[in-house]
Amino acid sequence: MLLLNGEVPPKNNMKTTPIIGLEVHVELKTKSKMFCSCDANHFHVEPNTHTCPVCLGLPGALPVPNKKACEWCIKLGLALDCTINEETFFERKNYFYPDLAKSYQITQLQKPFAINGKLNIDGHEIRINRAHMEEDTGKSIHIDASTLLDFNRSGVPLVEIVSEPDIQSAQEAKKYLNKIQQVIRYIGISDADIEKGSMRCEPTINIKVEDETGVYYTPLAEIKNVASLTGVENAIDYEIKRQIDQYQSDKITKNSTNKTTRGWDADKNQTFLQREKEGSADYRYFPEPDIPPVIFSKDQIEEIKKTLPELPDAKIAKYKSYDLSDYDANLLAEDLSFSNAFDAIVQALIGKPEFNEFAKFTANLFSGAIRQKLNETQESFDISKLSGEYFSNLFKAVKNSEISSSVAKQVIVESYETAKDPVEIAKEKGLIQVSDTASLEQFAKEVIEANSKAVEDYRKNPLAIGFLVGQLMKVSKGSANPQLAKEILEKLLK
Ligand SMILES: [Zn+2]
Repeated sequence: MLLLNGEVPPKNNMKTTPIIGLEVHVELKTKSKMFCSCDANHFHVEPNTHTCPVCLGLPGALPVPNKKACEWCIKLGLALDCTINEETFFERKNYFYPDLAKSYQITQLQKPFAINGKLNIDGHEIRINRAHMEEDTGKSIHIDASTLLDFNRSGVPLVEIVSEPDIQSAQEAKKYLNKIQQVIRYIGISDADIEKGSMRCEPTINIKVEDETGVYYTPLAEIKNVASLTGVENAIDYEIKRQIDQYQSDKITKNSTNKTTRGWDADKNQTFLQREKEGSADYRYFPEPDIPPVIFSKDQIEEIKKTLPELPDAKIAKYKSYDLSDYDANLLAEDLSFSNAFDAIVQALIGKPEFNEFAKFTANLFSGAIRQKLNETQESFDISKLSGEYFSNLFKAVKNSEISSSVAKQVIVESYETAKDPVEIAKEKGLIQVSDTASLEQFAKEVIEANSKAVEDYRKNPLAIGFLVGQLMKVSKGSANPQLAKEILEKLLK
């Protein structure tokens, strides 16, 4: 039996720890392919139109590495806290497959661009073994009994990021992937869309079993064809349970060194045996003779480093230093343009004593009204055009009780659309908060008259005052000061 959190309840004092590593492939969104000048875009394109002798693997064609792709691989390595190898070289990985016309893939084994990085997941450090540069293969399309080949994807730049097996649960694997995706999108080298296939992931899993007789490891399984983040989570959960079950029922597998490749069937929600995995020696790796070693100087690497934006972890730490909650900090850092727009606005009151309060006020508008507007309008709402001055005017008006926070939500989006000061908009619409007792009493009398049933309810249960306050807010079009409104209603009903 497997508990929901992925842990297995101890049986005969047996303790199990999942050991999970992830190989992530990311297609870079460079204009041209990795070793030729063909257009690298292969989505929704007529098959076999973005090809040339190099990416079709014709004899005598010579590959030339894409400089931009190499720089982006280094940039990703830097963002993942890796050490960058100044001198690297490409190698041939030999295997036969119909969508690999050359019968070898150009990749990196001994000297990847980036090594020994790390990524922090909720305080747990996941080590990154490497990020190396390679090329994608073509695509096999199976229709009925035939297979069609499309080489538009052949030679598209691909970075492979290999983690150490430090991940301990399916949930953690999902968070790791989310974060890799976030970092990649921050640095703008790929859309990293797992459903579309521009990011692909292969988990490797086995289980450390400790019981009174010793420590054992179940055979390592690599899982293929996982095509969504939820799929990754489900596949890992399934595989953890399957390996423990197998261990318990079949003691022969104890400390087996067999490695297997398993497929993921999303419909059945289970993995299935595909093949025994070959060791890396079977690929007969050797240095690519047609490409000289690639060298990036310290200065060049420094230049690439300067192009890194402030990364998600740094953003989150900064927001926490503004006294924002974990929730707000994570939400604001979710994507770079959202986060940059927030940063630009809070600049308006930087260094002022009320800065943290203003940041909290702005964060609330961002997570509510602004996020909602972005979701509704998708791309057409240019968040970078939000004005810091307008936000700070609105903040002061709310602080002085001129405008209620619910009116602030209404007018901020309109202010973007009309390029008018939100406080002016509130004035024009009569939404300035009413705190004078005479007007509020007038509203309260109207509400009491129109809601005799609710008044009765209130006499039985004082908590029912909430409904009457709500009605008063409605009558006043959101302009009443809610606290004062409540006090006046209570006074009149006594
Ligand atoms: Zn080509």
